[in-house]
Amino acid sequence: MSANRRDFIKFVVAGAVTAGCPVDLSLVAAQTAEPHRGGANVDGEDNRICHQVRDGRVFSRPPASAKHDVVIVGGGVSGLTAAYRLQHRDVLLLEKEPQWGGNAYAMEYDGSPYATGSAFLWSDSDAFRFAKEIGLDPLPVNCPDGSIINGEFVPDTWGDGLNKLPYPPFTRDSFKKFKKEMMAIDVEKRGQELYDLPFSNFTKLYSREIKQWWDAFGLSNWGATSDETAAGLAITEFQDVVDQSRVDNRFTWPGGLGAVTKKLADILQPKFGERMQTGATIVAVSPGKEDVQVTYVVGGELKTVTAKAVIMATPKFITRHVVEGLPDKQSQAMQQIRYAPYCVVNLIFDKPVFNKGYDTWCPGNTFTDIVVADWVIRKKSGYKQKYNILSCYTPMQEEERGNLLTEGGARKIAANVLRDFQKLAPETNVDPVEVHIYRRGHPMYMSTPGLFTQVQPQVRQPMDRIFFANTDSQGPESTTNEAIVAARRAVRQVEARLAGRPAGKEAAVLG
Ligand SMILES: Cc1cc2nc3c(=O)[nH]c(=O)nc-3n(C[C@H](O)[C@H](O)[C@H](O)COP(=O)(O)OP(=O)(O)OC[C@H]3O[C@@H](n4cnc5c(N)ncnc54)[C@H](O)[C@@H]3O)c2cc1C
Repeated sequence: MSANRRDFIKFVVAGAVTAGCPVDLSLVAAQTAEPHRGGANVDGEDNRICHQVRDGRVFSRPPASAKHDVVIVGGGVSGLTAAYRLQHRDVLLLEKEPQWGGNAYAMEYDGSPYATGSAFLWSDSDAFRFAKEIGLDPLPVNCPDGSIINGEFVPDTWGDGLNKLPYPPFTRDSFKKFKKEMMAIDVEKRGQELYDLPFSNFTKLYSREIKQWWDAFGLSNWGATSDETAAGLAITEFQDVVDQSRVDNRFTWPGGLGAVTKKLADILQPKFGERMQTGATIVAVSPGKEDVQVTYVVGGELKTVTAKAVIMATPKFITRHVVEGLPDKQSQAMQQIRYAPYCVVNLIFDKPVFNKGYDTWCPGNTFTDIVVADWVIRKKSGYKQKYNILSCYTPMQEEERGNLLTEGGARKIAANVLRDFQKLAPETNVDPVEVHIYRRGHPMYMSTPGLFTQVQPQVRQPMDRIFFANTDSQGPESTTNEAIVAARRAVRQVEARLAGRPAGKEAAVLG
């Protein structure tokens, strides 16, 4: 596509890269002792303020204006689930963004939903059962993943597709050998050992195209290439992917798992009213003898409330900066978790362009895979696809995070996604009506060797009245399911603590 044609396409950038900064910028700018260096350099300023928080700057604490049983910090799927499970208590739920959902958040274009993050869940998961419990009807994907390789669409990559891969015969044979040998590994039996080894120890024994495929799959699903992925996770995932050819047990809704957080918010808001606040950024969580003080910024003002217990449903790179008095070992464990930057670029077409598969892998491109936003309703009687919205998952390496800081940088990534997509599907020489980019600086923790076995058990230790939810407490992979499981565990711990029982015991239980 020529630069001129691209100039006529509307690019819309959303999402916050500096989500790592738990402070309302205007307030801190007003409070900071340093002279204000002029308002133009927003990105530089964001970093300066984030560094102050990181370096332990203490904000003034107004006296407590309210008391609650439980304060939940973070309104992603984990925080919302915890609130749902604690409806019988006096709970205050606080979220810094203007919307609920965190990484499971869907947006719409002219009434057509599309994902900005989380896409699907599995029918054998707690998330599936929970979705049904809250009144949602999950819809089957029923389409094992295909790939686009050398410009050719290959359905069911790891099933029948192995015979059709557009590679020389020895490369196809290597894919088949890899499949056979990975399927023979008993991950449960070798669990600990495999979770402490990098997956590339295995992929290096086969043709390099296999590593390329898995680098895309790993980056998209758990933020890490094969060199940095725990082998136990990748092999388990591989066995699941192969099973998809037999029975695809993935379910979703148009626009992905944002449907779950939207439903939770819709259920809770009428009941919680004022006790459920967006635009409320927590700056300090301070444990006392009888209660915990939670200080947050809302509407440009600092507020403090007290609670008998607090659930931190925020990611740990934030949590460790706002919770005071964390034991060194736990704080260090939280610091060890790495997070991948990630864009989801939605290409919005007003005519059918690509509807060949639900989730299609495109190794070797700017993006890793394409999800068709309305896949699960496309065959419903009476449904007509008004827009063909393609969610291009575009995970990035940690060192590329800076490219997301400016709108221009984010737009450039989206333009590269569009360029690569149009190269892959040249037969559809159609421009999108709009391109929407949702950027996030630290959304997905990386499933690195040792994380699940050594780091996460440390991270989720309760701290008297403070408990740790969020998917990054649970593992081995950042999923909506793990976020829900972590919430359930934290709720059990809270109930135990409020009943005067030791909550520590509950930490040993994963589910
Ligand atoms: C691109 C992408 C694709 C994915 N695909 C899938 C998928 O297909 N299936 C799947 O199961 N999972 C998927 N995941 C993972 C899944 O989205 C996450 O694991 C899940 O949404 C995490 O939920 P959470 O509540 O634990 O954390 P989060 O979603 O991170 O929620 C934490 C919340 O805390 C808020 N917060 C942070 N700091 C503060 C503060 N100081 N004060 C107040 N609030 C604060 C944040 O704004 C956020 O809303 C995907 C993730 C990404 C990024």
